[in-house]
Amino acid sequence: MKRPVSKQTRINHSDYVAPEGFDAFPEPTYRASTVLFDSVDALRSREWIGRDSYTYGLHGTPTTFTLEAQLAEIEGGRHAVLAPSGLAAITIVDFAFLKSGDDVLIPENIYNPNRELGNWLSRDFGIHVRYYDPMIGGRIAGLLRDNTRLVWAETPGSVTMEVPDIPAICKAAHEKGALVVLDNTWSAGLAFDAFGHGADVVVQAVTKYQGGASDLLMGAVITRDGELFRRICMAHMRLGMGVGADDAYLVLRSLSSLKVRFEKSGESAMTVAHWLKNRAEIHRVLHPAFPDCPGHAIFKRDFTGASGLFSVLFNELYTEEQTDRFLEALKLFRMGFSWGGTHSLAVPYRIRPDRRDWNLRQNQLIRFYIGLEDPEDLIADLEQAMETLG
Ligand SMILES: *Cc1c(COP(=O)(O)O)cnc(C)c1O
Repeated sequence: MKRPVSKQTRINHSDYVAPEGFDAFPEPTYRASTVLFDSVDALRSREWIGRDSYTYGLHGTPTTFTLEAQLAEIEGGRHAVLAPSGLAAITIVDFAFLKSGDDVLIPENIYNPNRELGNWLSRDFGIHVRYYDPMIGGRIAGLLRDNTRLVWAETPGSVTMEVPDIPAICKAAHEKGALVVLDNTWSAGLAFDAFGHGADVVVQAVTKYQGGASDLLMGAVITRDGELFRRICMAHMRLGMGVGADDAYLVLRSLSSLKVRFEKSGESAMTVAHWLKNRAEIHRVLHPAFPDCPGHAIFKRDFTGASGLFSVLFNELYTEEQTDRFLEALKLFRMGFSWGGTHSLAVPYRIRPDRRDWNLRQNQLIRFYIGLEDPEDLIADLEQAMETLG
């Protein structure tokens, strides 16, 4: 074919090929919607479900496959898919495994949007959803029915931080043929071995420590089982849940420092939590490493570390108005949802009235996330804000 006449055509079909042999630490960022095939045969015989070929940007690129492999590695799983948020990862699991007429068990203290999704599935999709006391342990056997397909779990539970007995829940669920899906976001896949303790599927909000800088949203669904992975991939494909290449790159970049950030955040959180525990203003610190946290013995048995997220209950003397003033007086701690980044955060929570296992509503609850600031500076900030409590 003769040389194209138009500069634009020549630009778009440039002959230049960069020399081979370039090497550097960053993973290359491949951006693609269209993935090119060499032959009609290659196009017609494309196989999108595996991770050994490419078909379309939505189903993966070298960048997203690399990130999936690293997230699976962290978690001790074999397969992973990426989702546009942690909540999207939760949605993929429900669509992968539930159909109308199925029964699903969800702990009372699950990440609240997961509960909202459960209520929606129950109201509009013919799925039977029941909520269980997270401290139920092996007694969950009494709740399992023949049509119970999924048992959701989270350790520790969101906001109130109870630590469930995951091995006991998994054992009872498996005896009845139900799958256990664990939201393992709190430990970032580092401090709790989900598959080793019996989980079939793990959900991670990659938005948190894996993203690590409060600048992106992503989720992941991880498993060891090939058949479960196939079902997860079908739901992932049907729902069209792709992630952007640049976000995938940012997570890969952050993963190279994941463990040190996680450990530093967790250690600083322990320092701050101990300081809070000794304050008269605080009724209780809700942190699994503290003996009065429900499930503390299970935490000691099953976890190898702790993240930087915990809550406190204020002394019941203090009204919501007073703790609101405390929050607004904080200077280093900022208010906002999500966590896992470099900056410390504080958020007030009202425990939902339909949560049957919670009866400490007279105590104001604030959730803290401890980032990478010096804990002594954070303590000084808390101390000056406490003065507003009067
Ligand atoms: C943040 C979070 C999610 C949801 O992640 P998003 O990316 O914000 O959708 C799910 N589970 C837990 C435990 C979380 O903390």
